[in-house]
Amino acid sequence: MNHSPNDPKLSSWAPVAAGHDFPIQNLPFGIISRSGSDKKVAASIIGDQAIDLARLQAMGAFEGLGLPEAIFLQSVLNPFISLGRSITRAVRQRLSDILRIDTTDNRFATQSGEWLLPPGEFQNHLPVAIGDYTDFYSSLEHATNVGSMFRDPSNPLLPNWKHIPVGYHGRASSIRVSGHAFPRPHGQLKPNDGPPEFGPSRMIDFELEMGFIIGRSTDLGDSIPVEQAEEYIFGMVLFNDWSARDIQRWEYVPLGPFLGKNFASTMSAWIVTMDALEPFRTTGPEQDPPVLPYLQTRGAHTFDINLEVLIQPSGGQPAPVCHSNFKYLYWSMAQQLAHHSVNGCNMRVGDLCASGTISGPTETSYGSMLELSWGGKKEVDLGGGITRKSIQDGDTVYLKGYCEKDGLRIGFGDCTATLLPART
Ligand code: CA
Repeated sequence: MNHSPNDPKLSSWAPVAAGHDFPIQNLPFGIISRSGSDKKVAASIIGDQAIDLARLQAMGAFEGLGLPEAIFLQSVLNPFISLGRSITRAVRQRLSDILRIDTTDNRFATQSGEWLLPPGEFQNHLPVAIGDYTDFYSSLEHATNVGSMFRDPSNPLLPNWKHIPVGYHGRASSIRVSGHAFPRPHGQLKPNDGPPEFGPSRMIDFELEMGFIIGRSTDLGDSIPVEQAEEYIFGMVLFNDWSARDIQRWEYVPLGPFLGKNFASTMSAWIVTMDALEPFRTTGPEQDPPVLPYLQTRGAHTFDINLEVLIQPSGGQPAPVCHSNFKYLYWSMAQQLAHHSVNGCNMRVGDLCASGTISGPTETSYGSMLELSWGGKKEVDLGGGITRKSIQDGDTVYLKGYCEKDGLRIGFGDCTATLLPART
């Protein structure tokens, strides 16, 4: 009989440090290349070591699962994800069987040097070809904070906000995998008391978000019922939706964000499956007023995921600036997806939907510098006499995320990027 890959009592013969993001109960999916090679292959990870799935398949590890030949010899996970949840689930189950300390099949453990790659011997790449990227705006606290600063503190939410999971279509081309660097963007900046100017943004911000990857395509005209929406989600990643607040403020009326948002976004390298997240399911905030029937859900439709943001100045140490949680979001992923497709808009495997900035109820749980500095009115302390109102050249921003319950802890790995000086 198969064991549960989520069993907290499982341990692996592969070394995993206590509290590591990638114990045997996680087994997320990504894309790597081996050092010295530019050939990309599908992978998983345990502890600090990547698992070369293409090599394992060639060694016969997945026989009997109905996998197409060379399915892992691909530069993106889209073909693998397209096989469907029953196949991707069986692969994770088989990996768990191979890696557990009491495995009944030692063939692969004894040859682990062939398919287990220590840190430094592999490089991560963007795990999916993202056809379309949609960004929501689903945190009540974030929307309230922004509305209070930019519009009316006595009436911060627009009338649609509690009825519609508000979103917009973003740009997929500028999404990069964790560990990259990008230049400070130029754009139009409008001083309060003068005409617009052109120059480098002076207000670069992070946005603490999570994203989900579409795991099942739909046809044009199809709508995804809210109670089935989670079946269309392959897994989740951390997502930093970098923003230039000064460019954004001048350009966003009437069609919404454009150049203030599309210069770079960062996502974590490993997609944590919905199966791995299942033990951390929880209920979200109560929705009042009631939502329309096509958005109504029963039961627990969100996940308890602790989130953290750290800023590391050039040459300095990373300093925590925010602690939040995915469960604070007012709108669930199921509701976002049901709304996104209610008009018949088709979804494609690999599409990315991001949550919007995830702020919590306290001042230390705000998911952007805009809120942490309250529109630039106060400094955010990084320790050692260093403060920030926005991200400075050379700063590296880290997003972290992990779930913890009943002795089981899994995480999302790195989501980091560094801001370079503007190009001249
Ligand atoms: Ca955003």
